[in-house]
Amino acid sequence: MKYITLRNGYQIPLLGYGTLQISFNQSEQCVDEALQEGYRLIDTAAAYFNEEGIGRAIRKSSVPREEIFLTSKVWIQDAGYENTYKAFENSLKKLNVDYIDLYLIHQPYGDYYGSWKAMEELYLQKKIKAIGVCNFSAERFVDLCMNSRIPPMINQIECHPFFQQKELRCTLHAYHCQPQAWGPLAEGQRQIFTNEILTKIGQKYHKSAAQIALGWLIQQNIIAIPKTIHRERMKENMDIWDFTLSKEDLEQIAQLNLGYSEIINHQSPMTAKWLNKYKIHE
Ligand code: NAP
Repeated sequence: MKYITLRNGYQIPLLGYGTLQISFNQSEQCVDEALQEGYRLIDTAAAYFNEEGIGRAIRKSSVPREEIFLTSKVWIQDAGYENTYKAFENSLKKLNVDYIDLYLIHQPYGDYYGSWKAMEELYLQKKIKAIGVCNFSAERFVDLCMNSRIPPMINQIECHPFFQQKELRCTLHAYHCQPQAWGPLAEGQRQIFTNEILTKIGQKYHKSAAQIALGWLIQQNIIAIPKTIHRERMKENMDIWDFTLSKEDLEQIAQLNLGYSEIINHQSPMTAKWLNKYKIHE
C-alpha cells in the first residue's frame, strides 16, 4: 500500500475500499475480506446504511484501529451546525469507534457552511483526523476555502477515464486539497471493463482494464476507492503497484475523456432537488 500526505500532515492510503450499495448484511463480511486483502482505507457514509456492519468488521479484525483509515460522511438532511454534531455522534456510535479519520460533507447542498463550522470544531477536538467535502465544483470549493478557518483537505469527486476532471483538479491542487476519486471504475458504465484502449494497454503490462483505470488514478496521486463485493476483484483491484503507464498510454487514456458525467450532474437543478428530497431518517 502506498500513502499520500494530506495538507495537515496526516497520511492516507492511495487506494481504498468503497462501500456504496453494500448492504447492511453484506458489509461486515466484505470489509472483513477487504482488510484481509490489504485495504486500509474504508469509505462509508451515513447514507449507505452500513456503518454498523463496517464497525463490527473493524472491531473483530486483527488489524489495529490506528492502521485503518475510516471515512464517513454527513448527509444533506443533517446539514447545519447542530445537526452535523448529532450526525457525527450517530456515525461514531454506529461504527463503534471513538474517532473518524476523515469526515466529509456528502453533497454540496443544504447548510454546508453550518456543517463545516461543526466539522472544524470536531477536527480541533481531535475527534476527526481530517475534514473535507464531496462533489464540490471549483467555485463552491473556493468559496468555502475563502470563508472558513480550515479549508477542506480532500474533495471526493467522480473521476475516471471517461470523466477526468482536469480543471477541477487544477483548482484543488492550487489549494493543496487532495482529490479522491469515487466511481474510479465509472461504476461499470460504458463497458469500461472491456474498453478497447484500456484492454490493449493492459495487455502490455498483463493487467485488466479495471487495473489500468485504477493505475491511471494512483499514478497521478489521485486516491481511488473502488467498490466490489467479490473477493477476487478485491485482489485484482489491489494488484496495481507494479506497472507505470507510459506517456503514450496516458495520451491514449486522455482521449477517453468525455468531459462530463454520465452518472450524475451536480450542476443540474433536478439533482439538487432529488438529493435534497432524499431522506435517510425520520
Ligand atoms: P466503482 O467503484 O467505480 O464501480 C463499482 C462497480 O464495479 C460495481 O458494480 C462492481 O461490481 C464493479 N467492479 C469492481 N471491481 C471490478 C473489477 N475488477 N472487474 C469488474 N467489475 C468490477 O463505483 P462506486 O461504488 O460508485 O464508487 C466507489 C466508491 O466511492 C463507493 O463505493 C463509495 O464508497 C464512494 N462514492 C462516493 C460518492 C459521493 O458522492 N461521495 C458517490 C459514489 C460513490 P461488484 O461489486 O459486483 O464486483
